[in-house]
Amino acid sequence: MEELIQQLIKQGYLKTPEIIDAFYKVKRRDFLPAHLMGEESINAPLPLGHGQTISQPLTVAFMLELLEPKQNNKILDVGSGSGWQTALLAELVGEQGKIFAVERIPALKKFGEENIKKYHFANIQFLEGDGSKGLPQFAPFDRIVVAAASNDIPQALVDQLKVGGRLVIPVGKNRQDLVLIKKINKQEVIETRYPGFAFVPLITES
Ligand code: SAH
Repeated sequence: MEELIQQLIKQGYLKTPEIIDAFYKVKRRDFLPAHLMGEESINAPLPLGHGQTISQPLTVAFMLELLEPKQNNKILDVGSGSGWQTALLAELVGEQGKIFAVERIPALKKFGEENIKKYHFANIQFLEGDGSKGLPQFAPFDRIVVAAASNDIPQALVDQLKVGGRLVIPVGKNRQDLVLIKKINKQEVIETRYPGFAFVPLITES
């Protein structure tokens, strides 16, 4: 995995020293199902069961660099899956920060929660449900990150973002753009698109 991290740095995907540190501290292998042990440094999504995948390291690096998580941030993490990215976020916001991790598949919510116990983070709350509507009871958030592909940008998530906050979400059907939304005031956002990603779909309840 050290080699892969070095490679992501060389290729310019990992840039921020704090994010690089988090990649070293939070080990992807701790978030893989037992039968995939030893495959953590493969730069590809890997199956988690239930038709879901632990994201590709390159993609997680790219998303975190766009998200710019900071110490003390309150972050909504939609689609926590294995818990790997959740743990990286928990490391990046520090003890005074808070991560709300939402996962719609109960068995995966539990899997992520169990994996994270290896790290003794006290700043994560796991919730089961449809994260596309956000968590109004805990809003507003400094950052929101979605790990599954949406057809559009859910307005509820934009509404639950603080002014100055950032939302990163894959948008599209077969191939997706990663979309960065920066909320510049209550009514306005700046949107930037980065094409060429592939995520599992965001399943929403109507
Ligand atoms: N960051 C995770 C990504 C897992 S894949 C990891 O690296 O392990 C994306 C996850 O989003 C899947 O676990 C899937 O079940 C979940 N998901 C899909 N739609 C969702 C929704 N509406 N609300 C919450 N989670 C959702």
